[in-house]
Amino acid sequence: MKEIVHFELVEASEASSSVAMEAMGFKRGLNYLLHMGVDVGVITTDRSPSIRKIMREDYSDIHHEFDPWHVHKSVMKKLVAASNKKDNQDLRPWLKSVSNHLYWSCSSANGDPEKCLQRWRSLLHHICGVHRWEEDGVEHVCHHPAMTEEQQRKNWLQVESSAFKALNSVVMDNNLLRDLKQMAHFKHTGSLEVYHSSMLKYTEKRLHFKYDTMRARTQLAILDHNANVSRAQGTTKEGQPRYRYCYSKQSAQWVAKPIYVHTQQAFRDNLVERVLKRREDPAVIYTEPLPRRQPRRRRLLQNIAPVPRPPKAFLLSRHSSRFKPYLT
Ligand SMILES: [Zn+2]
Repeated sequence: MKEIVHFELVEASEASSSVAMEAMGFKRGLNYLLHMGVDVGVITTDRSPSIRKIMREDYSDIHHEFDPWHVHKSVMKKLVAASNKKDNQDLRPWLKSVSNHLYWSCSSANGDPEKCLQRWRSLLHHICGVHRWEEDGVEHVCHHPAMTEEQQRKNWLQVESSAFKALNSVVMDNNLLRDLKQMAHFKHTGSLEVYHSSMLKYTEKRLHFKYDTMRARTQLAILDHNANVSRAQGTTKEGQPRYRYCYSKQSAQWVAKPIYVHTQQAFRDNLVERVLKRREDPAVIYTEPLPRRQPRRRRLLQNIAPVPRPPKAFLLSRHSSRFKPYLT
C-alpha cells in the first residue's frame, strides 16, 4: 500500500527549529494512528538522529527501519569519492555491482538482520575472486550461480591493493553495519518522495499560505497522490513496457527508468460532485461552524536583537542625522 492515510501540519511558531518541527509532527502523527487503533509494526524513516532517539525512547516496541535508498546514497557517495582517487581506479568498474549488492543484501534478508550483514560483508570475498570462504568455522558461499569462464576473467581486486582497502573501510564502517541491521525488512519510503514532488504542485514553496489554506492544499495533494500512486507502467504500440534512458552521474552508467501512464484527475470531478450534492442536501445545516483546528501552545518567536530597542525618538534623530552634511 502506497497511499497516504494521515498527515500533520506543524507551524513554525510551534517549534524551535525545522528539526524540532519534524520530530513534533512525527510524534503527533504516530500518536494519532496509535490512538485510532492502527497496529503499527514497522516504521521506516531516514536516519535522522532526532527520530532515532524518539523511536528508541518512546516507541521501543515498534520496529524501526531505515530506508535503504537513503543509506545507499551515502554509501555510493563515499565509494565514488574513493574510486576517483588515482590509486583506487580499479574500484570504478565495480561500483554498479556494489550498488546492486547493497540492495540485494537487504531485499533477500527476509527481515533477518544477521543475514543482511553477512550478505553485505560477503562482497569483500567475491570482489577478490573468492566465492567460498570460512567465517568463525562456518563455510559460506556466494549466492550467484556458477560463473562461466568469461565471467571468471573479471578484474578481481587484490586484498593488498589500495582500491580494496578503500572499499573495505566503507563496507565495514561501524555506523553502516549498525544501520544495516535495521534494513533487513527492505522497506522503502520511495513513494513518499513521489508525494513530495507532487505536493509542490499544490503548495508552491515560494508562496506563503495561511494554516487553513495549507491544510486544504495538502489534502488536495494527498487526494491526487492516492489516486495516482499505483498507476501502471506505460506500454509501446507493440505492447512492450516503456522506459526512458538516462545517464546516472553517481554510478557513471546509463540506466533505464520506467515511464508510467499519465496521471488521472477524475478525483477532482468526484470532489466537486460531492460538494454540490452536499449543498443540495436539506439535512445539512449551513450555520454549523467549520471545524476549527485545536488551539496549540505557541512559542513566542524570539527577537533576534540581543539588546532592547532604544526609544523611537532617539532612533529617528539618528536616522535624520545620517542625511545631514558632514560636520555641520
Ligand atoms: Zn562470488
